[in-house]
Amino acid sequence: MINGETDVLQAEESLTAEEESDGFILTCCRAAKTDIQLDIEDLGELGDIQTKTLPCRIDSQQFLSDDVVEIVLRTPPANRLEYLPGQYVDMIGNDGLRRSYSIANAPREDGKITLQIRKVEQGKMSQYWFEEAKANDLLRMEGPLGTFCMRKNNASQLILLATGTGIAPIKAMLEQLATTPEANAYSHIHLYWGGRTEKDIYWRPCFESLPLTFTPVLSRTPDWQGRKGYVQQAVIDDGHNLSDAVVYACGSEAMIHSAHKQLVVAGLNNKHFYSDAFVSSN
Ligand SMILES: Cc1cc2nc3c(=O)[nH]c(=O)nc-3n(C[C@H](O)[C@H](O)[C@H](O)COP(=O)(O)OP(=O)(O)OC[C@H]3O[C@@H](n4cnc5c(N)ncnc54)[C@H](O)[C@@H]3O)c2cc1C
Repeated sequence: MINGETDVLQAEESLTAEEESDGFILTCCRAAKTDIQLDIEDLGELGDIQTKTLPCRIDSQQFLSDDVVEIVLRTPPANRLEYLPGQYVDMIGNDGLRRSYSIANAPREDGKITLQIRKVEQGKMSQYWFEEAKANDLLRMEGPLGTFCMRKNNASQLILLATGTGIAPIKAMLEQLATTPEANAYSHIHLYWGGRTEKDIYWRPCFESLPLTFTPVLSRTPDWQGRKGYVQQAVIDDGHNLSDAVVYACGSEAMIHSAHKQLVVAGLNNKHFYSDAFVSSN
């Protein structure tokens, strides 16, 4: 916030102390008392997108690894979901249980939505997806949600970071860049995907039209011949010119916090870091 006065309606718990001292506010937690001036990004692309709740059925399901299942959902032809690649939906079960999942594909002609879901031990919704879900099950989804989507900027390097099923929205963004070449102004795209073991790297990017380098990074496989450790360290070790880069990161909160901190120290513009953390709902 540049100037003006506001009342705090609710504690801004997700802001760090540093962000607070830099003058960041959460507009959803405040009410304006006077005219205020804000330094905010134009998210005009999201203006035409409406969040709605719609019925959907499981079209198909397929295991991508022993603990990740891909669920394809179909919506009524007259009631499709309009969204930007990177956004997520809330899936609502029959008992009202609700969990967020990123959409793993760019919009398709048939309107189908793909999710990549990791099994969480003792997880309530995991139990449904891994033990009960079957083709034609009727569910509801609310979406699209979130602001994790490609923004216009002047950087020439695009750096994509994912851990685990955080690859889902990144895959959707890459599909968008591959099918709309005019949207891709980047001379290099670097994708880093972190997992613990080789089975966590359950998908291979295949986008011949994109200037893409893919680096899988494993944290718990000592005899792995590729990159070991964490994705954020791999980016720094590769010595990219971060002052000319934009970063999109999705997956664990730990990776996102650490990547944000380390990459900004290494030269990334703070405003060029976009992220979506897979925080647990309880
Ligand atoms: C914006 C957003 C997008 C998301 N997108 C995806 C996605 O595309 N794919 C996906 O697989 N998940 C995604 N998630 C996470 C997902 O919403 C659920 O939190 C997750 O699937 C667990 O739900 P559950 O009902 O099975 O477990 P819960 O019943 O909610 O949790 C059971 C126990 O496990 C713990 N727990 C929950 N999640 C984790 C975790 N990741 N690691 C360790 N412990 C955990 C809980 O604290 C609890 O103790 C996303 C979350 C958010 C906020």
